[in-house]
Amino acid sequence: MYSRKHYLQNKNAARKIILESLDFFARLYGVRYRKVAIRNQRSKWGSCSKARNLNFNYKVALLPKDQRDYVVVHELCHLIEFNHSRRFWAEVARTIPNYKELRMKVKSVDLR
Ligand SMILES: [Zn+2]
Repeated sequence: MYSRKHYLQNKNAARKIILESLDFFARLYGVRYRKVAIRNQRSKWGSCSKARNLNFNYKVALLPKDQRDYVVVHELCHLIEFNHSRRFWAEVARTIPNYKELRMKVKSVDLR
């Protein structure tokens, strides 16, 4: 139901909103990332590459702030732990103690 038009109209605003959260948490964790790409995707909220580039779905900006922060922190923590190990989730929990609940909410959103 999300159109290309909606993406193009909201992409720049989404980048600003996502970067605000990203820079706040990057400072808190003391991690650096390289580039941020804002994309229109139907199945992913975000991703992180070994080259330390981050990728976010523009729809992250449309989420309630707590869910948005969860997605941002999730990708950011992949710069520390490039997996979904216990150590990874422990990093997420440092700033998002209720991450399990937020993860479920985010997963239930229809991105199409
Ligand atoms: Zn992940």
